Amino acid sequence: MKPKRIEHIGIAVSNLEEAIKYWEDVMGLECYNIEEVVDQKVKTAFFKVGEVKIELLEATSPDSPIAGFLEKKGPGVHHIAFAVDNVNEALADVEKAGARLIDKTSRKGAEGLNIGFLHPKSTLGVLTELCGE
Ligand code: ZN
Repeated sequence: MKPKRIEHIGIAVSNLEEAIKYWEDVMGLECYNIEEVVDQKVKTAFFKVGEVKIELLEATSPDSPIAGFLEKKGPGVHHIAFAVDNVNEALADVEKAGARLIDKTSRKGAEGLNIGFLHPKSTLGVLTELCGE
């Protein structure tokens, strides 16, 4: 497995509207996409910084993984997503190399990408996402 680049940084927010305002007004970035990912119970907002994206994540339900994260840790950096050529192959590679997986096979994430998460217990605390077309 060899990541090609950082695709995006996922940031958990308690209020998407307020967070978008911060990233636009203070950071000078433009939100180009807002999308709800129903099966992950999140609403996302995207910004581009060069070739890296910022993905804001707001929970849409109290049992959303993002709601759990906010309760435990508060708002902040939630995960780092790496672009790979083939998500299923990359997931198999990292598992073979010793990482635990949240997703054994890829699923559909925001922006139509295939995504898969590694378990943070086996990534030294960094929730890691692999994503690709
Ligand atoms: Zn993500």
